[in-house]
Amino acid sequence: MTSGAVAGKLALVTGAGSGLGRAACQVLSREGATVIAADRNYEAVQETIRKHTALASGSNAIGDHTAVELDVSNAKSVQSLLQMMINQYKTPPTIVVNSAGITRDNWLVKLSEEDYDSVLNVNLKGTFLVMQAFARAMTEAELPGSIINISSIVGKYGNMGQTNYASSKAGVVALTQSAAKELGKFNIRVNAILPGFINTPMVKTVPEKVIGQLMKLIPLGRLGDPMEVAEVIAFLSSNKSSFITGAAIDVSGGY
Ligand code: NAP
Repeated sequence: MTSGAVAGKLALVTGAGSGLGRAACQVLSREGATVIAADRNYEAVQETIRKHTALASGSNAIGDHTAVELDVSNAKSVQSLLQMMINQYKTPPTIVVNSAGITRDNWLVKLSEEDYDSVLNVNLKGTFLVMQAFARAMTEAELPGSIINISSIVGKYGNMGQTNYASSKAGVVALTQSAAKELGKFNIRVNAILPGFINTPMVKTVPEKVIGQLMKLIPLGRLGDPMEVAEVIAFLSSNKSSFITGAAIDVSGGY
């Protein structure tokens, strides 16, 4: 028998080939969940399963994690993932972590319509498509669940060069709060995390000069570690947070 805060649960993590999604797989598997790691980069999620789950460390291994290719912005891709999971595991996941996301930064006056649309399609519409498909499956199976959407602190305060990204992430909070109101009666909780600046490949694209300026605005004086966000994901996935829904939690070092 496995132990841990989410022992025996099935968890889907999108954007699991990198950064926060990969760290979420690591912590959820450590806490006893079986993890489906999904990303548009299939090689990267295979590496997540091989090197970053409890299966890899040999501790608490339940040995049934899966890596899958997924484009969250494509409804067909989301539906076929759901079907695959039902076929393979005979149940939908009861933990869903929406971590897939992209940036296409530019000044408002220079931002192309294409870069606006692609960010909204992945970050906002992608979160909607995954949440809709899997919430529907959970309600049909009459299973309680927990959905965690990764927004951003930038969705709350805005950020220069990120009108597209900031508006997508503000939308994720509104999506989360509205879904929480609808799904509470099914005992499905929906929460958002608003990370500040976390040390992942996404933040490596930010110029050093800008990072230097940001540091002055972070009371804890450093970037966050992906595991510091993943621990909050595990808490929100587990029954330890059983009365929390519709929340938007900053994990930002005080930024
Ligand atoms: P990351 O390291 O770039 O990881 C994001 C992953 O999502 C990548 O593997 C990416 O693949 C994948 N992805 C992109 N589009 C996808 C799609 N359409 N379908 C499936 N997967 C897709 O970024 P991260 O820092 O871990 O960010 C994770 C989430 O946290 C994002 O939603 C991000 O906006 C949010 N966030 C991050 C920070 C931060 O400081 N890092 C702060 C606030 C919020 P590709 O590499 O191929 O694009």
